[in-house]
Amino acid sequence: MKTFTVITIFPDLIRNYADESILGRGQEAGAIKIEAVNLRDYATDKHQTVDDSPYGGGPGMVMRVEPWHRALAAHNALSPKAGASTEDVHDERTHTVLMSPRGRTFTQRVAEEWAQQYDRVVFVCGRYEGVDHRVVEYCVDEEVSIGDFVLAGGELPALTMIEAVSRLVPGVLGNEESLNEETFGKGEDGQGGEYPQYTRPEQFGEWKVPEVLLSGNHAEIAKWRAKNRS
Ligand code: SAH
Repeated sequence: MKTFTVITIFPDLIRNYADESILGRGQEAGAIKIEAVNLRDYATDKHQTVDDSPYGGGPGMVMRVEPWHRALAAHNALSPKAGASTEDVHDERTHTVLMSPRGRTFTQRVAEEWAQQYDRVVFVCGRYEGVDHRVVEYCVDEEVSIGDFVLAGGELPALTMIEAVSRLVPGVLGNEESLNEETFGKGEDGQGGEYPQYTRPEQFGEWKVPEVLLSGNHAEIAKWRAKNRS
């Protein structure tokens, strides 16, 4: 089973999405497990504060390092860079990532890498102006981005990455052949890429399905698909 641990101040955002559709079914089937951890449970004061104003001044609030360190240690998810006692530092089958617009861009190749190399991926979801830089320097293995734009938090990026990796875990999709045939896939002939798909009706107003797909001629259909791969 592949485990995804998401640490956030909005655990319900994660649960609500992860319990439906493909991710929900994947969890019921026992192929994946998605845990949402509330960062506030690891705050050090009675008001459960996780942010403070930045040293040197400037707008907004920054997430404090202690709650992140405690939460990651409690889940044996600290990067070896933390230099903490061995129980708190993760093993080589775990990968801890900070959601960050300045990170390495997440792609299908990264999804494949994580699906193959790790049993557990731990997501650190920032909010406000981001996290104290010591989290980047010592607590996580890498910073990862879903694209060159700035969101309000790391929850959507974490769910995006979890969904992309989960689709590659056997038993989640139910139809593993479809993986090779899709966009960024390897393809039967090694070419990769999705071809245009159609379903009933054959004609919708003026819009027709390409004749060859209705022909029943499998060689011709394969040729047409190869030609029209994206
Ligand atoms: N002040 C920061 C932005 C903070 S946005 C800056 O200028 O870079 C708040 C949080 O949202 C970040 O800490 C990060 O966890 C998340 N986030 C925002 N955009 C993201 C993206 N494109 N990819 C991954 N995480 C993102």
